[in-house]
Amino acid sequence: MIELPEAIVLSKQIKDTLKGKVVKSAIRGQYPHKFAFTGKFSDKEFSELLKGKTIKKSWANGNVILVHLDPGYLLSLGCGGERILYHKKEKTLPKKHQLLVEFDDQTYLTVTISGWGEVRLLESKDLDKHPHIFFERLDPLSEEFTLSAFEELVNNLPDKKKCSAKKFYITDPGLRGIGNGVIQDIFFLSKIHPKREMKSLSKEERELLYETTLTELRKMINLGGRDSEKDIFNKLGGYKRILHSKTVNTPCPQCKTIIKKQQYLGGTIYFCVSCQKMD
Ligand SMILES: [Zn+2]
Repeated sequence: MIELPEAIVLSKQIKDTLKGKVVKSAIRGQYPHKFAFTGKFSDKEFSELLKGKTIKKSWANGNVILVHLDPGYLLSLGCGGERILYHKKEKTLPKKHQLLVEFDDQTYLTVTISGWGEVRLLESKDLDKHPHIFFERLDPLSEEFTLSAFEELVNNLPDKKKCSAKKFYITDPGLRGIGNGVIQDIFFLSKIHPKREMKSLSKEERELLYETTLTELRKMINLGGRDSEKDIFNKLGGYKRILHSKTVNTPCPQCKTIIKKQQYLGGTIYFCVSCQKMD
């Protein structure tokens, strides 16, 4: 799944590779997908609106990739399980896709969705109404995400309601662009169990968690994303994940306890019961 680090990596690649290219044709809905989020324009309108537009820039907001189509529109990608690929040759195009853009220099961009994902067109002026950018959530890579802002989020959690570390990071209050993928290593390296009650974290634990969040996210970006995700050149990211499906039942790299997995809050969590404290 594309999360904050991959959205940043992919949007930079899109900007560097596609900037200045003019759309010759655009097809959406060739292979309809139930969870392809498209926005208010029909597939036919989409094709008409994209034709002749120029790619000006691309950037990420949370786990959403935004591509500025000049004049006046934004193509929104990301936030799910998409394969976003750049093609120099027609023969490398996937047979089934949810988006195919051909540029005037005979290069292409395709999006193939598994799970869910964005192939949304919106008017630039409507960006603040984007339904999948959680504007109210703190962006952990923004200047606002200071240690004191992080501590304030923890202190503001309601006393009576439980809030685990995983819930805190991905839903309530949630950090922008963070999902069930990147939290696994962040919690492992912070020695926090994903089910750990956030309010029970000591001052030192909160500081370590905050620092680790920043360090690991930056590392993921610098290494071109996690090794579970591919970039627009079909290359896997260089960040080697510590905890994932293939490390279940293998010894913890720190203490040799066997790594466990569990279903929790709509996704699998991986953890070491010795290293990651529950209380
Ligand atoms: Zn361990």
